[in-house]
Amino acid sequence: MHDLIIIGGGAAALAAATYALGKRLDVVMVYEHLGGKSGWRQNLTGQEQPEDLPGEEAARLLERRVSGAPARLRRDRVVAVQRVAGGFAVDCEQHGRMQARTLIVATGARPTPLLVPGAAELLGQGLGYSVTTHAHMLAGKRAAVLGATARALRGAAELAQHAAQVYLIVPTITDMAAPMARALADRANVEVLPGYRVAEVIGSASVEALVVTRDGAMRRLVVDAAFVDIGLMPNSSIVAALVETDGAGFIRVDQHTATSVPGIFAAGDVATTFGEQVLIAIGDGARAGLAAYDYLLAQVPAAAAGAD
Ligand SMILES: Cc1cc2nc3c(=O)[nH]c(=O)nc-3n(C[C@H](O)[C@H](O)[C@H](O)COP(=O)(O)OP(=O)(O)OC[C@H]3O[C@@H](n4cnc5c(N)ncnc54)[C@H](O)[C@@H]3O)c2cc1C
Repeated sequence: MHDLIIIGGGAAALAAATYALGKRLDVVMVYEHLGGKSGWRQNLTGQEQPEDLPGEEAARLLERRVSGAPARLRRDRVVAVQRVAGGFAVDCEQHGRMQARTLIVATGARPTPLLVPGAAELLGQGLGYSVTTHAHMLAGKRAAVLGATARALRGAAELAQHAAQVYLIVPTITDMAAPMARALADRANVEVLPGYRVAEVIGSASVEALVVTRDGAMRRLVVDAAFVDIGLMPNSSIVAALVETDGAGFIRVDQHTATSVPGIFAAGDVATTFGEQVLIAIGDGARAGLAAYDYLLAQVPAAAAGAD
């Protein structure tokens, strides 16, 4: 039985693994994609240089460090997690069953996709799923935000400080009750479009316009960029039957990244932590590494427990 299995290969998992390797733990990291989501850039028409992404270099540095311990890495998909005597069993598609005394779940979350004509083609070309990451690129430009999640509203408020014009497209009118949405509605450069839906994303090299509709009425919004935030879907199904999650499926954690099950920790976007950003996930992962290490130190090894 290993000391620790880390599920995931993104910023949070890499930080946790770096910490665990430093403590000489018998750790295994199982991931589908090394590096996770960090490094997803935006390209806008007329942009002279590639976007600088805070945190990306830190994630790459951690990736290099962890890649230096190949015996600890398993590229695989985890399909189930369950309790066993003395710890947990992790079932993988190719490597079968592995066991560990403690687990860190850092499987991230994926954005709910916008499924309309033009959206897939213009992804990364002015159409993005993380407004807060790219808002600084829109100074003096026109941008739209679709959604009324806390992330969408925060992002729209951030955009409103730099952009010439912001359209906030709020499909569900009742969402406008949120204080941040009401504050946005009072800004001169923000137009809130309650009840509208995006029907099409238009552009050749980069996003040029959105077609939005409400009750059969149609508008064409000329924009330089558009951001979709209609919700994040946490990749928590493998532990959903074990640990407590919130209504949306995010794993509930305390300030030490501990879940409702002693010995299982969760870090990064999959957990109920504030702010989905690479640097935050790195801090979270390091905290989970330390918490798992503390947990192991507090366990009495089986051999010692039986000794005089
Ligand atoms: C479109 C988009 C762009 C973004 N751009 C930026 C940015 O530029 N800068 C920034 O700071 N933040 C950005 N963010 C947020 C940032 O990417 C995340 O906060 C960060 O990547 C979270 O790291 P994580 O390790 O929690 O999850 P992730 O990076 O999502 O990593 C999850 C890992 O878990 C693995 N995994 C999932 N399920 C399984 C399974 N069953 N078995 C094995 N492995 C599994 C995946 O393969 C992956 O390795 C962006 C987010 C999105 C959605």
